[in-house]
Amino acid sequence: MKQKNPWFIFFWISLFVIIFMLMNSARQKNEEVEIKYSQFKQEIKNGNIANVTVAPDIIKGEFNDNGTVKKFKTTPMDDPNLVKDMEENNVKTFSGSQGGKLFTSLLISWGPLIIFMLFFIWMMRGMAGGGKQAMAFSKSKAKLAGAGNTKITFKDVAGCDEAKEELQEIIEFLKDPAKFKKLGGKIPKGVLLFGSPGTGKTLLAKAVAGEAGVPFFSSSGSEFVEMFVGVGASRVRDLFDQGRKNAPCLLFVDEIDAVGRHRFAGIGGGHDEREQTLNQLLVEMDGFDTKEGVILIAATNRPDVLDPALTRPGRFDRQIIVPNPTLKDREAILGVHSKNIKMENTVNLGIVAKRTPGFSGADLANVVNEAALLAARLNQEAANMKNFEDAIDRVLAGPARKSMISGKEELKRIAYHESGHAIVAKKLPKADPVHKVSIIPRGQALGLTWQIPEDDKHLTSKEEALDRITVLFGGRAAEQVVFDEMTTGASNDISQATKLATHMVTTFGMSDKVGPISLDKGSEEIFLGKDISRDSHLSEKMSELIDSEIKKIIDDCLKKAKDILKKNRKTLDAMVSYLLEKETLSAEEVDLIIEGKSLGTAAV
Ligand code: ADP
Ligand code: ZN
Repeated sequence: MKQKNPWFIFFWISLFVIIFMLMNSARQKNEEVEIKYSQFKQEIKNGNIANVTVAPDIIKGEFNDNGTVKKFKTTPMDDPNLVKDMEENNVKTFSGSQGGKLFTSLLISWGPLIIFMLFFIWMMRGMAGGGKQAMAFSKSKAKLAGAGNTKITFKDVAGCDEAKEELQEIIEFLKDPAKFKKLGGKIPKGVLLFGSPGTGKTLLAKAVAGEAGVPFFSSSGSEFVEMFVGVGASRVRDLFDQGRKNAPCLLFVDEIDAVGRHRFAGIGGGHDEREQTLNQLLVEMDGFDTKEGVILIAATNRPDVLDPALTRPGRFDRQIIVPNPTLKDREAILGVHSKNIKMENTVNLGIVAKRTPGFSGADLANVVNEAALLAARLNQEAANMKNFEDAIDRVLAGPARKSMISGKEELKRIAYHESGHAIVAKKLPKADPVHKVSIIPRGQALGLTWQIPEDDKHLTSKEEALDRITVLFGGRAAEQVVFDEMTTGASNDISQATKLATHMVTTFGMSDKVGPISLDKGSEEIFLGKDISRDSHLSEKMSELIDSEIKKIIDDCLKKAKDILKKNRKTLDAMVSYLLEKETLSAEEVDLIIEGKSLGTAAV
């Protein structure tokens, strides 16, 4: 529901009040006439009264008004002779009634209005709280896609091979939980899918349900965060109840970060509702037994903001990355989606894939769709290559994509940056091996060279540390050597290199001048400016010495990286052109390039 304007609500209230008043008066007209007690007594005497019910605060009955029988009511008076009078005047039936009538009748006539008023107050509270949703109902909106409905299988999901493999176990389990259990398989309660928007996380989850032939319930984290405290939590409860009732089945929560955000993140205190919802989610996850055959899959593109409680063992203990599609994957995704449209056989999806670096699965589906639309608009029998090219431009021009996809010039810079890392790594004896080089954007990073071991404790020698810093500067060095310019793309490298150099001097005692003294309080405290200054007991001279030692390490390493790249400029250029063509290079391909061999790919 979208935000409602207060006048809209006012309109509804007026309408409701008018209807209520009309109904009330209509009912009174039809039902009863109020008569005076004196008239009532008179009518008894006239013999017009029948069927009287006497309650402490009201008398009701029927009377004959010149031939038509009407209902009447009147307010009783202290009249001990009433029964005698009725007996004497042949009132057919009369009976007494217990007290409390007034309350009941009040409730009947005013009840709806009171309920409405309460509802209104509740609604206004929500509006004041931010006006996101004026009305909310605690029922989970989880949509059920029954086993029959989920016809999507892994065949419909192109690429994502690693994710599919990891999900295979879940499918086996959902197919026959009892059997799986007997074989002693241990199954995660929750699976977290990480990936940028449109990479096919929802599709994968649906395909898991489809492969296993179980119902699929999907909901979104944003639905769990309501304006009313408690509503989100009850929706979570509801989702799990639905799951238990339909087990074995799969529950899917999209955008889990909406609820699962780190509880203390953000300035200005917590968000009560979200916190309650998150707690409820944790309670439900802890409370249900996987034996029941319910698996929870959640998706997010912001793993960094998730509350650590969610990823603890026994909760979302399996995390699967759904990466942006590679060149090969993109061709496959285009293949899946173009099955349903007519294409000329001149259309080469491989070329389309090459022209769409950085596109997500959803973007590619969009490209195919746009191409078909363009062909139809031009009254063509089938889509041709020109339609596809125009479709790419259209999708590229879409507002959401612009910032994500790098232009040609930028791609070249990224390629040089990543190649710089790779070549420096290859030329240094103690550097970690290069697994992969890629210019496909991944999360915040524009490219990727290899996984840098995060834990500093694995360092053993000074040479290794220096080599690692040199490799970190490989990207920046390449930019300087080739373009004689610096970009912001190296900021993460620089911060890592600085951290490492600082550790070398202040923690690992790797500087001869400073000596083996631990001067660092630990990098954990680098938060909110807590380590703005190092230990105050350090002398100014020592501080200066530390700074100059750190700077020396950094300067030396950057210079070394530049020298390596200048000496290997040919290799650098070759790697860049291969990267621009293939986007991702494997370890073997990197080796071949370093050896100066050709990879033998057909250029487009
Ligand atoms: P996410 O949940 O990751 O944001 P979706 O699963 O909703 O992405 O993907 C949106 C659409 O993009 C899908 O419905 C599908 O048409 C297309 N798509 C995404 N990834 C793939 C893929 N790997 N194979 C085929 N189609 C895909
Ligand atoms: Zn880098």
